[in-house]
Amino acid sequence: MYAQVIVDVPTMQTNQPYTYHIPSLFSEALIRGMRVVVPFGKGNRLVQGFVTDISDTTDQPDKLKDISQIVELEPVLNDELLQLATWVADYNFAFRISVFQTMLPNVMRARYSKVLRLIEPNELNHLPQIQALFADRDEVPFDVDNVDMTLVPTLLKLQKKRIIEIGYVVNNRAKVKKINAFKPIKSVDFYQEQRQQLRPSAVKQARLLSYLMQSPQTFVPVKEVIKSYQLDYAVLKQAEGKGWIVQKPLESYRIPKLSTPVKNSQPLTLNAEQQEAYIAIANNISENDTKTFLLEGVTGSGKTEIYLQAIAKALSEGQTALMLVPEITLTPQMVRRVKSRFGDDVAVMHSGLSDGERYDEWRRIQRSEVHVVVGARSAVFAPLKNIGLIIIDEEHESSYKQDENPRYHARDVAQWRANFHHATLVLGSATPSLESRARAQKNVYHLLTLEHRATNGMLPETQVVDMREAIKHGGDDIFSPQLIEAIQNRLTKQEQIVLMLNRRGYANFLVCRECGFTPRCINCDVALTVHKDISRLVCHYCGYSETIPTKCKNCGSTRIRQFGSGTQKVAEQLSEQIPQARVIRMDVDTTRRKGSTDQLLTAFGNHEADILLGTQMIAKGLDFANVTLVGVLNADTTLSLPDFRASERTFQLLTQVSGRAGRGDKPGKVIMQTFNPDHYAIQLARQQDYEAFYHQEMALRHAWKYTPYYFTIQIKFAHEKIDESAKAAYEIANWLKNIIDNETIMLGPATGTIPRIKNKYYYRLVIKYRHDEKLIQALGSLIKKGQQLQKQGITIIIDREPINFM
Ligand code: ADP
Ligand code: ZN
Ligand code: ZN
Repeated sequence: MYAQVIVDVPTMQTNQPYTYHIPSLFSEALIRGMRVVVPFGKGNRLVQGFVTDISDTTDQPDKLKDISQIVELEPVLNDELLQLATWVADYNFAFRISVFQTMLPNVMRARYSKVLRLIEPNELNHLPQIQALFADRDEVPFDVDNVDMTLVPTLLKLQKKRIIEIGYVVNNRAKVKKINAFKPIKSVDFYQEQRQQLRPSAVKQARLLSYLMQSPQTFVPVKEVIKSYQLDYAVLKQAEGKGWIVQKPLESYRIPKLSTPVKNSQPLTLNAEQQEAYIAIANNISENDTKTFLLEGVTGSGKTEIYLQAIAKALSEGQTALMLVPEITLTPQMVRRVKSRFGDDVAVMHSGLSDGERYDEWRRIQRSEVHVVVGARSAVFAPLKNIGLIIIDEEHESSYKQDENPRYHARDVAQWRANFHHATLVLGSATPSLESRARAQKNVYHLLTLEHRATNGMLPETQVVDMREAIKHGGDDIFSPQLIEAIQNRLTKQEQIVLMLNRRGYANFLVCRECGFTPRCINCDVALTVHKDISRLVCHYCGYSETIPTKCKNCGSTRIRQFGSGTQKVAEQLSEQIPQARVIRMDVDTTRRKGSTDQLLTAFGNHEADILLGTQMIAKGLDFANVTLVGVLNADTTLSLPDFRASERTFQLLTQVSGRAGRGDKPGKVIMQTFNPDHYAIQLARQQDYEAFYHQEMALRHAWKYTPYYFTIQIKFAHEKIDESAKAAYEIANWLKNIIDNETIMLGPATGTIPRIKNKYYYRLVIKYRHDEKLIQALGSLIKKGQQLQKQGITIIIDREPINFM
């Protein structure tokens, strides 16, 4: 028997599986989708691989190598996921191995380590140091901890003479957590008798025996019983010795916890609009029909309640449900809401989990022990079976698109899986992506709308403040007098406030007043951002940092000015201007620690602070009834992005953040500060008029030939030398010109918006097309060529429907 294996060798990626012979030892156990260890290449180094197919015959039976090992006895990829991986790889011009890695918990990624193997022990007689290194072993780890590096030249010589060899081993990090457990093995009468015979001083044994008399006949964790019956390990050890109980290690899941316990919740009675949407979705679930709904509902219209009831519907039909949420910030609140309804039947998957938790949640799903999964982007690959419903909340969010290989969009993957399972797909948003809204226009998706808020029906009133005027009248560029007044007013009423500033750090950059010099990153073409709390200048692209200078590096002047304000500076200014306000700052810097997002939001929810100040991570999903004021400090930050989606992003962000105000029974108010008060994205966000924005933006996209009228692909070229990067870009551009369709438009090559990032120079091509099979085929062949170019130091990135035009 033969196996097709996709191997995990980063420098030799290919979508072509290698054929291996299956030794008879494994022939019964080996199943498609399993992880194996196989010898690879000339040196036969051992690598991890995935079995994608098994066959009785092969057309290349000569000199096939044997599979060396099976990693675990259950397949980690089922047939659906194997098929899906092939599609994701092809569609996104990626390698199947990178898709497998994305689909599976981190701990299943291959980790290789080097070992030294002794082949001719007798040849070491004159080399005491090497002898000592091996001692009585014939294989030792080859790393700095074990091997004195001054021995390396000798070792290499010995390797040449084949006295030793350098090999690789595959480390399996997928470790199951075990805890000690025990169970009673005697009758109740027996324990009773034993108890009667005890000495009066044997208190702990007595307690154990009373426990055993009424304990379940199953394995129970030792720790739990010790704690609740005030026992100790010695007593249990004794009991085991006397044959009262048996102990064994039991598999235990690391289940991620929220900062505070989750309360149960009951389904709400749906209002008429919600009911209509719910019925359409529920009927479709019953019919097992593949259909995609776009649920367009204003902020606070009760979309989440519809999701929860639709999930309940899928479960009642004996099916499973998958719900995606944009990113980690939102996850705790949403996880809380889903767990409050479905309890332990829910698994969560997002980047905030530890590797162990992620692996265990994955196994609970894999073993069909849970039926509901909530998670961020990569949860779309959760190994749920029999899926009846997939929900993508805030479907317009750019975090659904992965910005590294494989550059997939979770929406596309969800659609594929919905087709596979005949499942219902629900895309929900107050501000759908233009792509999705256009598909609903063409009846590819079925449009459902919610026009009113679920609680009081009132959207917040929005005021746009022209910052040019505010500054003219002596205000500063952070707070307009209108915003300060409104904040103070809410504070006296004990109401809460959300302030958004889409910029972290303290100040945006430094400028020397004498010579105009600005400190820049040594690795990237960007100015460094001032972070006052750590007293450093930081690059937001590569993380490089240096101390904040007191003198200009260029001219020595001490007259250095800081420009632009980030969240740190605004927090500082708030405490000066409104000292009584309690402020929680939420940005990448304050939420790095695991669980901190949930803690900060819970504290805000408990009114332990008056103001939640944050970057765009606070714009979405938050549902706090006591928030009656939302302030946007600078509505323009996303408008100036070098991207055709700048207006769409701005409109979405402003609408979303506005939606945080007035969600309870008190009316909400929004104040947007801007230098572009007349821009249509800002004006229409003020009116929360998605439909008007959609029509206006579509007209522009049509005129400029952009998505959703055209498909786009971006190709990026990176190299340490600018000439090499340019050369590669022009070569590929010239090659493609002769292949692509007449109607296809190629822009560039041009340098990247930031020409240098992490010491690599970027060139890019943007291709816009309608139907162009030849282009797609050419790009498929380009990724194979990319492996060769990689050896010359050139990185090629092909990005289908890019979200990020850098
Ligand atoms: P969305 O997800 O559309 O922004 P949510 O689902 O967060 O809206 O709902 C907003 C608020 O309205 C929540 O506090 C929710 O509990 C409440 N709500 C939703 N549906 C109903 C209903 N049918 N009856 C009463 N309250 C509701
Ligand atoms: Zn200077
Ligand atoms: Zn940098």
